[in-house]
Amino acid sequence: MSIKFFVLSVVALFAYAKKGSSDDEDGKPKVGTVIGIDLGTTYSCVGVYQNGRVEIIANELGHRTTPSWVAFTETDRLIGDAAKSQVSLNPTNTLYDMKRLIGRRWDDPEVKRDAKLYPFKLVNKEGKPMVEVMVKKESKIFSPEEISAMVLTKMKTIAQDYLSKTVTHAVVTCPAYFNDAQRQATKDAGTIAGMNVMRVLNEPTAAAIAYGMDKKYDAERNILVYDLGGGTFDVSLLQIDEGVFEVLSTNGDTHLGGEDFDQRVVTHLLKLWQKKTGLDVSTNHRCMQKLRREVEKAKCVLSTSYQAIIEIDNFFEGQDFRETLTRARFEELNADLFRGTLKPIEQVLKDANLKKGDIDDIVMVGGSSRIPKIQQLVRDFFNGRELAKGINPDEAVAYGAAIQAGLLSDSKNQTLDRDMVIIDRAALTLGIETVGGVMTPIVERGTIIPCKKTKTFSTPQDNQDYVLIQVFEGERPLTKDNHALGTFTMSNIPPAKRGEPQIEVTFEIDANQILSVTAEEKAMGLKESIVITNDKGRLTPEEIERMTREAEEFKQQDEMALANVKSRNDLETYTSDLRKQLDDAESEVNLRLNEEEKTKVEDAVSDVSDWLKENPDSEKEENEEKLKELKEIVEPLLGVQGSSADDDDSEGDEEHAEL
Ligand code: AMP
Repeated sequence: MSIKFFVLSVVALFAYAKKGSSDDEDGKPKVGTVIGIDLGTTYSCVGVYQNGRVEIIANELGHRTTPSWVAFTETDRLIGDAAKSQVSLNPTNTLYDMKRLIGRRWDDPEVKRDAKLYPFKLVNKEGKPMVEVMVKKESKIFSPEEISAMVLTKMKTIAQDYLSKTVTHAVVTCPAYFNDAQRQATKDAGTIAGMNVMRVLNEPTAAAIAYGMDKKYDAERNILVYDLGGGTFDVSLLQIDEGVFEVLSTNGDTHLGGEDFDQRVVTHLLKLWQKKTGLDVSTNHRCMQKLRREVEKAKCVLSTSYQAIIEIDNFFEGQDFRETLTRARFEELNADLFRGTLKPIEQVLKDANLKKGDIDDIVMVGGSSRIPKIQQLVRDFFNGRELAKGINPDEAVAYGAAIQAGLLSDSKNQTLDRDMVIIDRAALTLGIETVGGVMTPIVERGTIIPCKKTKTFSTPQDNQDYVLIQVFEGERPLTKDNHALGTFTMSNIPPAKRGEPQIEVTFEIDANQILSVTAEEKAMGLKESIVITNDKGRLTPEEIERMTREAEEFKQQDEMALANVKSRNDLETYTSDLRKQLDDAESEVNLRLNEEEKTKVEDAVSDVSDWLKENPDSEKEENEEKLKELKEIVEPLLGVQGSSADDDDSEGDEEHAEL
């Protein structure tokens, strides 16, 4: 497995004694309650700071994390648990892992590699990877930002339902190694979801904030954040000095996590099953999904117990599945993967030029860091040091994001007795190409932004009348190994000997991390410039606006789909109640109606049942009309009072109760 990370991505966080709260500043737009969202590759989590503490908010199923999954069925759009649970029936229209694609280019080797693994279709649209799905029998293309926006909308809705108010602002986290394009794309996803993303906070920084490590000002501290989730493994080395957080180095494996541990167990159990029954179920989607689900549950049980039973009734061809998995066997099946997680720890230490003994705090994050063997390996690696793991590891990042969000919200959080300002630093070196394809830095990585830096360049040839300014980001000495951001030409340079013309190149990065590059030739007063915003896989403002509009349309569609389902359900319930009564000799229908009336009811019920079968996608108005017609036939026969054509479906349930 390849490991590809940018070594230094820096975000600093300043904490200082509370002076005047920024809430008091005039003219500052009101933001209301700000929520903190951990937008994860496999699961997302939302939290809010209120009443002096962080609350992680559970979704409608009571789950405190929600799968970052979106699915399109023939009638609905599903998000979260509902999307994940139907994947085996609808694999090509069920989307996940958007975080692996967001802000990346189509030709990114990571994208190329991942594309082969997905059951859904990836397409190249203007150099960006997009997903193609069937929405209501029509093919539709979405960007990773749009699908991520759907997940963010879900997280926003979970928070809104809990808070009983509208939420418009959020802090969203991202991996420390995300580059500018990936961060910007994350922000764009928030915009499409109808939220202003006030901060894109580094995940390890959020985890360290969750543990209050920003409060330990006394001396410089080195914090190692070990984040092992469902599908990704990130190790980050942070340094905090006088309240400034800095990411010294990052490493990990973008394709290692709980799902790989599950897979090892699944493979093992399939072999046992085949040995016992001679049956191979590995290509049966339904069986595999059931097995995966039960294995994941068993794995979680094994974090607190020494054995777990995996039982699936009617697993395959009427046969039940039953196996016992011990913790020892689970650890043995994954021994190499668990041990392999120590390598990135060694690497971050090496990159930051630190020794094991230099680490002051070890923070365990991500659901898979609950595995006892993993904790033991990390503890042993650090010679028995205690690990910070008091906060639920799958919630720690959202927890820290919620604290940051609390600091940014309008409501006075008395218990947060300090103001924090996040100071961004340039994550990568920015520069231009000079003769021989050399990367000449203008803004060094780690420079605090906003910033403005100028360097003077000249021409390599006599009478050269133009220069090409090619802008790159990256740490490699040759531009071919770095990431191209944009190009422009300055022409009409007056004839002169090589080295004589003086061309000043200025890089300016504003608070929103937007880079402008200007070239100026002083003698003739020539000036050319470029704003680097859209040339890196980012969305244009028009695209964002369109996607925001479409997200709103989807919301309406979802509401309509729900109304269709609900009204159909009302009709089905009413019809099947009648059917049951017809079949029950003691029911009111049978006791009160004569044969002719019963036949009338029976015919009406059969008509509606047939109609429901013939119209699987029936809409709200049709369902309501059918229910009304049926009631108009049945209720007068049963002498139900007050039934009229004006009754709407919301009263329908009450009437059913009277039947
Ligand atoms: P995250 O992405 O941080 O939410 O982590 C999700 C991963 O953590 C999934 O693979 C889960 O199966 C795994 N996980 C959650 N709880 C536990 C647990 N108690 N023991 C082992 N793995 C767990």
